[in-house]
Amino acid sequence: MTQLEQARAGKVTAEMEAVARKEGLSPVEIRDGIRDGSIVIATGSNREAARVVGIGSGLTTKVNASIGTSSDIVDLEMELEKARVAAATGADTLMELSTAGDLDAIRRAVLAATPLPVGSVPLYQAAAEAAESLGSSVAMTTDLLFDIIERQARDGIGFMAIHCGVNRLTVDVLRRQQQRNGGLVSRGGAFMVSWMSHQESENPLYAEFDRLLEILRAHDVVLSLGNGMRAGATGDATDPAQIQELIVNTQLAERAHRAGVQAMLEGPGHIPINEIEANIILEKRLSGGRPFYMLGPITTDIAPGYDHITAAIGSAWAAAYGTDFICYVTPAEHLGLPYPEDVRQGVIAARIAAHVGDMVKLGRRQPDLDMGTARRNLDWQRQFSLAIDPERARAVREARPGGDAEGCSMCGDQCALKVASGELLS
Ligand code: SF4
Repeated sequence: MTQLEQARAGKVTAEMEAVARKEGLSPVEIRDGIRDGSIVIATGSNREAARVVGIGSGLTTKVNASIGTSSDIVDLEMELEKARVAAATGADTLMELSTAGDLDAIRRAVLAATPLPVGSVPLYQAAAEAAESLGSSVAMTTDLLFDIIERQARDGIGFMAIHCGVNRLTVDVLRRQQQRNGGLVSRGGAFMVSWMSHQESENPLYAEFDRLLEILRAHDVVLSLGNGMRAGATGDATDPAQIQELIVNTQLAERAHRAGVQAMLEGPGHIPINEIEANIILEKRLSGGRPFYMLGPITTDIAPGYDHITAAIGSAWAAAYGTDFICYVTPAEHLGLPYPEDVRQGVIAARIAAHVGDMVKLGRRQPDLDMGTARRNLDWQRQFSLAIDPERARAVREARPGGDAEGCSMCGDQCALKVASGELLS
């Protein structure tokens, strides 16, 4: 039985208890959230050692780190190092998105190496295998696609981004709007549009949605309804094609829920900050409160090299307004395949954003109150222990000359905290 089916039967599972402990909530609250579809639990059906992560209403905002090879760089050792760095810097989940090399072997090596729940986009492997065995990715057969979904589920993939909402209606809306500043940037979305056009056929993930649900239900894989129409430029945010796909996805999420499959929805890519709240209201309103997994949201297009920052700005707003899960963006975004140091920076930036959002969404203020006190007391060890990245904080302080054991080299002898705080404040 899936977590959802067990929740419906009134059962509290070990996974629900683990999430409850981590979130400081009762197991019954977690169970009820799963039952009504506002919470999902990602783990992986045959991965006993994997962490269990809850995503959804009332829970802390979670951070995903994506890794994976491309046709230009296939280096399994580096991908395993990226997986290690992601877990060490505090990512909650990992997506293994390789598109080149021995994809089964890479996925299995990553699953064996990380304690994190692992997500995937099966369409990437289906396109790659079709290109190799059938001569072209658009020659992909429906059986090949479903075979790969099942293979990945059997291996222990915990959640899958699946582009079911790129159906004929969505593509028609895209065609009729004619213009798109940044084009199609979702690899899954672009591939599916191209496959449908070549095959003159409906998206099999939509047409045979029940077949998909059977596989996901058998392995309790969380269905993450992909955002194939997500904007790749801020000028395309919240456009008709993106909203049409969202509507289709909310209907499919309801069907998944009825079939006992946990589901969440993805969106929206690049977006100006003043449209973030509207996207969250739409997703929550149309889906009945299902978890929202936000990719980006990248808030300006003109800062390549710093997109971990452009995304962190958007993610903080998104988390504050109620998004549940954010996908990190690294400094290498739009420029090249991330290296391990890019992964580290991306995870830290996303964790900062998630925390900033949770201060508002969940009223989680205690860590900041504790840091304020530690700063006032010039208690450096306490400050490091509270820091999101203690290693970096310690390294910056230790790299500066001067400063005594109490103050720091910023103000030197004029350390305000030594001069006046003790006289006026308790
Ligand atoms: S020296 Fe300045 S920056 Fe450093 S702890 Fe004192 S007040 Fe803060």
